[in-house]
Amino acid sequence: MKIFDVSLPLNDKTVIYPGNVGLEISAHHEMPEYATHLSKITMGSHTGTHVDAPRHALPTGASLDKIPLETFVGPCRVLDFTKSVGSVSVEDLKREKVKKTERILVKTQNSLRGFTTFYDDYVFLSGDAADYLAELGVALFGIDYFSVKQRGSKDQRPHTSLLSKNIPIIEGLDLSQVPAGSYTLVCLPLKFTGIEGAPARVVLINAIDENL
Ligand SMILES: [Zn+2]
Repeated sequence: MKIFDVSLPLNDKTVIYPGNVGLEISAHHEMPEYATHLSKITMGSHTGTHVDAPRHALPTGASLDKIPLETFVGPCRVLDFTKSVGSVSVEDLKREKVKKTERILVKTQNSLRGFTTFYDDYVFLSGDAADYLAELGVALFGIDYFSVKQRGSKDQRPHTSLLSKNIPIIEGLDLSQVPAGSYTLVCLPLKFTGIEGAPARVVLINAIDENL
């Protein structure tokens, strides 16, 4: 069994989407005498690798803790869209024959560029492609950058189309080390209650065929 950790490290170098709350980790000084280290952490709910729940884009949408864990654990497919320019399109998804109830993660140029600095021209999910996935009824969608939607665009569908169908979105995946293919996804967002998103540790498990 091989485990790919596709979560971004959380530290003072973690890239933050412009305008979001910064990540600050400092030593907490009022610690009990037996402790040598105790940290104080300040961060936004959409820091690093994280999950967007319906409430993120819909005023009365479900909060993250209301989404069953079964949605976040199970078979998934990593699709190679490293040749996609600008956005992941409907044509890209059709070519890969995405099916209803699948968990879909897309690997794009974003993973190859890395996560050490923020750039505006990241590959995003097109509005039409979001409509297509929502209509199809995938279980979950994940992308390898800090937002699923184009920066500055008025087209909100990459969030609204998916979230209005209760399809959670994982953002900030690092798929640079993961070949396209089938895996078991384990995505466990922190159990904050009543809010629209939270950081998650996300791993992909590649079961090795025992007959080989
Ligand atoms: Zn988000």
